Amino acid sequence: MPDSEPDSTSNFLSQFSNQEDAGEHFSPSPEGFVRGRTKFVVVVGTVMSGLGKGIFASSLAKLLQDKGLVVAPMKMEGYLNIDSGTLNPYRHGEVFVLEDGLETDMDLGTYERILNQNLSRKNFITAGQIYTEILERERRGGYLGRDVQMIPHVTGAVKMKIRELAMSGPKGQQVDVVFVEVGGTAGDYENSFYIEALRELAFEEGDGSTCFVALTYIIEPAILGEQKSKAAQLGMKRLMEAGIQPHIIACRAKNPVTTKVMQKISMFSNVPSKRVFSLHDRESIYVIPDAMRATGLDREILSILGLHERVDTRAEDSARQSWSSFARRLSAVRDHRITIGISGKYAALRDAYASIEKAIEHCGVELGAQIESRWLDTSDVASAGSTAKLLEGCDAVIVPGGFGMRGVEGKIHCVEYARTHRLPFLGICLGFQMVVIEHARNVLGWKGANSTEFNASTSYPVISELPDQKRIEGIMGGTMRLGSQDVDIAPGSLASFLFGGAAVIRERFRHRYEVDPTFVARLVEGGLIFSGSHPQHPIMQVLELPVATHPYFIGAQFHPELISRPLSPHPMFMGLVAAAIARREPAFAQTAAGLRWVRSNSTASQPITRS
Ligand code: GLN
Repeated sequence: MPDSEPDSTSNFLSQFSNQEDAGEHFSPSPEGFVRGRTKFVVVVGTVMSGLGKGIFASSLAKLLQDKGLVVAPMKMEGYLNIDSGTLNPYRHGEVFVLEDGLETDMDLGTYERILNQNLSRKNFITAGQIYTEILERERRGGYLGRDVQMIPHVTGAVKMKIRELAMSGPKGQQVDVVFVEVGGTAGDYENSFYIEALRELAFEEGDGSTCFVALTYIIEPAILGEQKSKAAQLGMKRLMEAGIQPHIIACRAKNPVTTKVMQKISMFSNVPSKRVFSLHDRESIYVIPDAMRATGLDREILSILGLHERVDTRAEDSARQSWSSFARRLSAVRDHRITIGISGKYAALRDAYASIEKAIEHCGVELGAQIESRWLDTSDVASAGSTAKLLEGCDAVIVPGGFGMRGVEGKIHCVEYARTHRLPFLGICLGFQMVVIEHARNVLGWKGANSTEFNASTSYPVISELPDQKRIEGIMGGTMRLGSQDVDIAPGSLASFLFGGAAVIRERFRHRYEVDPTFVARLVEGGLIFSGSHPQHPIMQVLELPVATHPYFIGAQFHPELISRPLSPHPMFMGLVAAAIARREPAFAQTAAGLRWVRSNSTASQPITRS
């Protein structure tokens, strides 16, 4: 593939300039950016949101990544928030935290899992970020006396972000394909400047540079019993009114889309039938890449973007094999059956815990277990009796992260139940803190022990906000510890067993409160083991109970679910699922998987303590 475009195109492109006084041809691009080297795939939704645009875009990106191409996804949000940190997860789904600490939309989690690639703030933009940047620049006099306008300045800033991402390949090289997912639906006010920026981008980068994919929805009203294409046609019109001619149309639907409907859509949108695809509901998102490849969608994109020559067929074969074997195991009959209780505040809204569900799914595939997740609303759990009832039939329990008071006492009861009934347990972030509180109250007898998040005047603030440590961390203003950090793992511990003996692991954090170091020694005397901590400071990050007293009891101040990947499930979840299987079927502990993941007294060395 040539690095630069033919002469006529480059003459045409050279009129676009980085200079603000270039008038209407102002279109910034980063230094060294070579037009034509990076291609762009833009995914826009029509008809309605919630069609799984992120899943679709990431699966498509994966198909190209499997071919040896370097891909980089970008999610564009139309809202004015700077990031997703302040969004209510029960309205918007989980807040996904990236390595560099950016709090993003849950779609970024889907991209990371499907592409097995760590993302950064370059991969996520919001209208709030774009406007803030422009307004700050305006105050600095950065626009040379010009009036600052939606076009070219706002759209210019969007194009700049896309091209900056294009420059972020390994060793400073340009990536092959940037995948842009526009949040919302064509026709929304909020995202219209993104759509305009993408139209301009396609024009400036030249023919064959950009492939627009419209994801649409085919309705099938029960009263008619047949699929109707009109809503999809109207949605497509909105896109075309914005100056965008889709190259590919993917039709989401409950059932496979009929040829008749696909022909109609083709006819009304100038897209040849072979580029209109049916994407009906599947049992798991992880079978979508293979299903899409079977339709030939990836090959059409290669043709539209002229990318066939960059394909590495050998890389593709091996990537396909490993994914397909995962997908096969996903659909295979599972040998084991377990139920995991998850204490969630608004138990009905699963999106708020999307990564936990996925982490469990990854382990189920790996260990051949059919896992039912049971969401437990702990807001009414007031006593040991009601906790026992709530947890009846559960083979393991997870107390996940969270903020705020509601359901907290019920979660502490769940911890107590799991501890005293030897029920496999995993506490995540807030769940880790609940373990410390439960231990303080019920093992050490410190009545009213609490986190200062819930009771600022408790006499035993075992979990508290520690301004000194925030300073050590460089986190000012009482904000949160966010993003990836190293965690030292104590040798001989359950954590060390799970992490294959690793002395240091790297995990993602999102919390404000932590174990007050002045209580650590006494907590340890009471039998709690702190087996993971900050490399330099007395900040406790993993805790556990000795394997002699409990088959599996572990907690983490970080969020292991955020880095669990389909082909490399997170060890803390693997341990939990394995312990749950072994609880039902003791013989499992002697299988190869059991020997790797179930820690018995004989595999454990002396319980260690750490302060
Ligand atoms: N609310 C707790 C804190 O801020 C836990 C946060 C979480 O679970 N993500 O420390």
